[in-house]
Amino acid sequence: MLNLVLFGPPGAGKGTQSQKLIEKHGLIHLSTGDLLRSEISQGTELGLEAKKLMDHGTLVPDEVVIGMISHKLDANKDAKGFIFDGFPRTVAQAEALDQLLASKNAPILGMIALEVNDDELEQRLLLRGKDSGRPDDANPEVIRKRIKEYNDKTAPVAGFYKAQNKFKSINGIGSINEIFDEIDDVIAAY
Ligand code: ADP
Repeated sequence: MLNLVLFGPPGAGKGTQSQKLIEKHGLIHLSTGDLLRSEISQGTELGLEAKKLMDHGTLVPDEVVIGMISHKLDANKDAKGFIFDGFPRTVAQAEALDQLLASKNAPILGMIALEVNDDELEQRLLLRGKDSGRPDDANPEVIRKRIKEYNDKTAPVAGFYKAQNKFKSINGIGSINEIFDEIDDVIAAY
């Protein structure tokens, strides 16, 4: 199974590159941000609780996102592989993911990180906010909070995969196709 974690701060381009990867390799895209936004638009209890946190740029509790991912893994038993986008976002989530995948005998092959500096991220997110309709993209204060959450809680997840020799990082600034080619070279070398 081709199980990959696409890693990087908000606005690094994970969603864009995920789309290209699923097209080329026939993988299933699991974005916890998208799953949470779908809960919000359906007006579920989980969505209502998550929205309060997301609108402030704060992470939602680990057990909530782990539960969603576990459910999606069970619902896609015949998948060729998964792209995890926006998950794991904490070390506890990474540990839980390893356990979920161990029970399926289909470990994470690697984590690919997209490197983009904070100034560029803020610009990209504000630009995206103009037409994404996402409240968390529209407000510079919320954007900075998301980048801070990333640096505090999510950046350490890289160490988790480095310790397993599964971490690769690439430059996330350049054209979409250039970056895709680099990601694909990394995948080919796994
Ligand atoms: P971004 O562009 O900021 O990476 P996402 O769409 O991945 O956006 O996530 C939006 C918000 O959803 C996050 O700011 C956070 O509140 C919540 N979220 C998404 N994934 C997770 C996760 N794995 N753990 C906790 N919170 C999450």
